Amino acid sequence: MSLMRLAYASEATFAAKPVEKGVEPNVARILMVSRRNNAKDKIVGGLYYGDDRFFQYLEGDEEAVRKLYDRISRDERHRNITILLEEPIEARTFTNWSMKYVPLSSDVNRFLDSQGMDAFRPSEFNRDQCEEMIRLIRDSSQDGRVVSHNGVRSARKKQTVIPGGILTGLIVAVVVVVGAMVYASTML
Ligand code: FAD
Repeated sequence: MSLMRLAYASEATFAAKPVEKGVEPNVARILMVSRRNNAKDKIVGGLYYGDDRFFQYLEGDEEAVRKLYDRISRDERHRNITILLEEPIEARTFTNWSMKYVPLSSDVNRFLDSQGMDAFRPSEFNRDQCEEMIRLIRDSSQDGRVVSHNGVRSARKKQTVIPGGILTGLIVAVVVVVGAMVYASTML
């Protein structure tokens, strides 16, 4: 069984809706189906969505990847699909992800800045830029950083941090109250 990898860029045909739980709702539906299908077909990879454009990277058995790409290329939710990479590989480089999604972009924004690009236009990526994008998706951690490319903050729960002084005061107050209650109970 020969393995291959394929990366493409495309433009979304839908108007982006407000982000829910860190993901645009149309993209969330695509991800749900992708994760189900790709796990079954042992296809791994990543999807990045920003500035109404997609960048997707796929790795897997050649026949499975080609079949999937054929389905994806007929999907009306995107257009102007440009293949950026298409070649055999020795081994998979993404593990445990049927379709990794990177909804955040501080790293990608930094990368675009470093390349002098003012927007996410993956169809213009050269080979090195394409490899860097794959690396960013592969290395990104989904935890903690959930800012979309358009800078919309997700509904991530805000952590409440109690300043040290107040925390100490609270502990002292609890100790005093409990002490007073114990003392009071001994007086009864
Ligand atoms: P079905 O069970 O027939 O459909 C799955 C669901 O997808 C439907 O319930 C429906 O809600 C939704 N859907 C399908 N087509 C449309 C449409 N045109 N408009 C609105 N909703 C629709 N599929 C994968 O399996 N793996 C991938 O990695 C993958 N990546 C994608 C990346 C992009 C950028 C896009 C646009 C699509 C991607 N897809 C992917 C989806 C793919 O194009 C097919 O829609 C999907 O594979 C069909 O799978 P199915 O036969 O199991 O779906």
